[in-house]
Amino acid sequence: MAELPGVERETLDVDVVIVGAGPAGLAAAYHLAQRVKEHNETAPERKLEGVSIAVLEKGREVGSHALSGAVMDPRGIAELMPDWLERGCPVEAPVGDDGFWTLFEKGKISAPILPPPLQNHGNYVISMGEMVRWMAPIVAEAGVDIFPEFPATRVLIEEGRVVGVRTGDKGIDKLGQPKPNYEPGVDVRAKLVILAEGPRGTLTKQLAAQFDLYAGKNPQVYSVGIKELWQLPADRFPAGTVIHTLGWPLGLETFGGGFIYGMKDGIVDIGLVVGLDYRNPTLDPHQEFQRYKLHPSIRKILEGGKMIAAGAKAIPEGGYYSMPRMYGEGFLITGDSAGFLNGARLKGIHLAIKSGIMAAETAFDALMATDFSSSRLSSYETRFESSWARDELFGQRNFHQAFEYGGLAGLLNAGIGTVARGRGFGLVDRLEGHSGHERMERIQRFFGSEHPHPPEKMKFDNSYTFDKVSDVYYGGVVHEENQPAHLLIADTEICITRCTVEYGNPCLHFCPANVYEPQPTADGRGKVPFLNFTNCFHCKTCDIMDPYQVITWVPPEGGGGPEYKKL
Ligand code: SF4
Repeated sequence: MAELPGVERETLDVDVVIVGAGPAGLAAAYHLAQRVKEHNETAPERKLEGVSIAVLEKGREVGSHALSGAVMDPRGIAELMPDWLERGCPVEAPVGDDGFWTLFEKGKISAPILPPPLQNHGNYVISMGEMVRWMAPIVAEAGVDIFPEFPATRVLIEEGRVVGVRTGDKGIDKLGQPKPNYEPGVDVRAKLVILAEGPRGTLTKQLAAQFDLYAGKNPQVYSVGIKELWQLPADRFPAGTVIHTLGWPLGLETFGGGFIYGMKDGIVDIGLVVGLDYRNPTLDPHQEFQRYKLHPSIRKILEGGKMIAAGAKAIPEGGYYSMPRMYGEGFLITGDSAGFLNGARLKGIHLAIKSGIMAAETAFDALMATDFSSSRLSSYETRFESSWARDELFGQRNFHQAFEYGGLAGLLNAGIGTVARGRGFGLVDRLEGHSGHERMERIQRFFGSEHPHPPEKMKFDNSYTFDKVSDVYYGGVVHEENQPAHLLIADTEICITRCTVEYGNPCLHFCPANVYEPQPTADGRGKVPFLNFTNCFHCKTCDIMDPYQVITWVPPEGGGGPEYKKL
């Protein structure tokens, strides 16, 4: 990560610093501020004086990097703010028609009865980006300082305890030298750090490695969601209509499925979720999504419409047994960073908000006791274990793991889980899981030959289908060009030699933003990926799915990245 050594840095001292202004981070900040206020009003003799809470956000503004266009279970927001609707939370529509289609190449079967996890009566179609944009001023009004364009790049650890975070330097050129506008990052020192960075968070990864947070757990597994917004002719797809699909184009070997959600003003939110534990090393999730839109039943919906926005994001799918230890000396982990997502329901916003509330309750107790030790903060896990969030996640605890053995096994296991309270095959309590990249097969094994069979190249028609660079444009992605690349490849020799032969350089396929392009090496020995890092959606797919785990995504200069609106 871009940081000049030996530079004097400003220090900001706060009580609690929260990394990430998504639903978990903002919920934690708001609930803690409210809790302190209520306490000071009802117990003035034990007043907590001047509690300072700061939220750091890497995007240009709150919501810039928020992508989940979403059917929200209102349970979390209603617990955080019982009058959320009266206060103007920007919902698109309550869910009306709710469908589930199994797609074949030319046709579909519509399920007469919806699987229970996909029944959405009582839920709301929303844009998470719009929701956090609405929450931010309410949270600020409660007394929280929100700092956009401040990416946290490392955790500060002293004598085995987390004491704060460092934000990224600004104004370093691509050769690592300071530019005239150079500004060193700030050390934000805090009694408590709450991580709410989203999936595959940079700081969460650092803590997981340092404190072995996944010991005894299943590894986290992810999907990538690639999506677009379309403006359709009026009344084509009413607001509140929700359709989930299974099957084509992914087939039974690859976990995932599609979704179409009706928003206000004739806009639909359409996307494909692809499990980042696929076998085919040349699979291209972006291209699969483009093919998806050409299915006759989907194409009919989009006919006469226009694509207006695009983006991509990873989704933590591992479930209950893939959640890391979520506390330690001086820190808590919330939301997608801790795996608060129900993969069977394809929902996480309500769980993220609930995790923020539980983290805030834990932070309040710690502030009262002036004790931020791991043993005090372990009450976060106790709270979780006795919460409705735990009941929900435990009930689906083996949902994803069986898909490692293919789609039929996964669906059968999901059916067993529904009647056996979340148990897996053989009625076991816990199915073992593996990291997604371990499932990718070598070219020779997958294709039965040494020659890669790259995905059939689509001809994009710019009407229904778009290339990756067009989607980058419609994602509003902008980065300062003269800065070091924020994708760190630990060993490019592997790219030139082993990866080319063994896997055919899957980064050229799985990145939805065309960041990785083959470039001949100077000595003519082969090809290394050239990094078009300014295209990056910050989806983390490369960090997750690289078969050798030599790619590390780190935050670029603050404010860089997508500018999602309504996605
Ligand atoms: Fe996603 Fe990595 Fe591509 Fe960026 S470079 S868009 S994080 S896969």
